[in-house]
Amino acid sequence: MAVNDTLRTVAREFGTPAYVYFVDQIRERVDHVRRAFGNRFEVSYAIKCNPNPGLLARMASIVDILDVSSGGEVERAIAAGWSGERLSFTGPAKTREELTTALDARVGLVIVESVDEAQLLDELARQRGVKAAILVRIGTQQMPRGFGMNMSGKPSQFGIDAEDLQPALGTILALPSLDLHGFHIYSGSQCLKADSIVENYAIFIDLYRQVCSANALRPRTLIFGSGLGIPYYETESPLDLDEVATKTNPLLDDLKCDPAFAGTKLVIESGRYLVGQAGRYVTRVVRTKRSRGVDIALCDGGMNHHLGAAGHLGSMIQRNYRMYALAAAREADTPVPQMIVGPLCATIDVLGRKVELPPLAKGDLMVLESSGAYGVTSSPIHFLSHPPPKEILVETIDGDEALTEVSQFRTPQSRE
Ligand SMILES: *Cc1c(COP(=O)(O)O)cnc(C)c1O
Repeated sequence: MAVNDTLRTVAREFGTPAYVYFVDQIRERVDHVRRAFGNRFEVSYAIKCNPNPGLLARMASIVDILDVSSGGEVERAIAAGWSGERLSFTGPAKTREELTTALDARVGLVIVESVDEAQLLDELARQRGVKAAILVRIGTQQMPRGFGMNMSGKPSQFGIDAEDLQPALGTILALPSLDLHGFHIYSGSQCLKADSIVENYAIFIDLYRQVCSANALRPRTLIFGSGLGIPYYETESPLDLDEVATKTNPLLDDLKCDPAFAGTKLVIESGRYLVGQAGRYVTRVVRTKRSRGVDIALCDGGMNHHLGAAGHLGSMIQRNYRMYALAAAREADTPVPQMIVGPLCATIDVLGRKVELPPLAKGDLMVLESSGAYGVTSSPIHFLSHPPPKEILVETIDGDEALTEVSQFRTPQSRE
């Protein structure tokens, strides 16, 4: 079924506003990543970008590892059927309780982001008589241009700064109940330039080589925070993953030629690139209005469900997400600029400005693309007490398209 037919069916059968996740597209995307890199990487999914329980359950047969970043995410992954061994646990301010949760769940790798955290984990592991497998997260000093999000070379809560790594490692390696399996770098993201991503991986590889050689380590695992970006706006073109892979694969092969890395498992870690473009947000026009020369469509969902589309999730200026209308009868009409707003009594609840669309009317559907990552759980869903959006998984089962609603929030109306 064509995507738009599916979206119409979702709106009719489940209602709006709704997030719709196309599971087959996620599977194809992950397969593409595996193929492009010739299986040099295992694939890890960073669940903070979309921890929908139904999605996490399906991810068990799609990716190898889940990266979780809180005690709550550990619990979500376990509840979705993942075994602790297949989890890695990042996060700069993990508490004693969270590390305890991780040890109880037998999380496969704790990504240690400071000496203090390492000491606390060592103490907790010793009390249990276990050894905790860790990676040390390194904060890089530099990275190429072209990343929408950049954590390198400036004061940062993430990881141990590369320039402080050597003394920190001395302390960590001496902790008896920790087992250092390797290293982790995630220094930036939302990059659409293949060359910049490759250059960044080269920086990771250099650092990994240096630190392992300085400490005579043969790492078991190295994680590459992918940085792979997706197009959000009309003006952006998609990343050429095959180009990234073609240029990265020789670097990885070269690394594996070094005996210290011959047995190392390499992992590529991503959130948005795996699921972002497989998700759509569908909201319905409640009414239209013309105000001082501008046509405005007022929708049943907005910033409360989709902070990113409203431009308030880390962007400096709001640019319109890729979006279109499902307004069957009038799709042939000449597009006119329209303002698309949500239902909130807040001036910042705007999903698009001067969006060229056929004239909208009550009941039409608006579809926002690139909405599968950093959508509902990154948004202020309680603001103004509207219900949370529906979340619908679409997948092929026995040759037929199946739609499943998987909610992850209690509605404001639900009672204790
Ligand atoms: C958020 C996060 C990711 C995912 O980032 P994307 O930009 O969605 O790919 C990966 N690794 C870690 C450690 C993260 O915190």
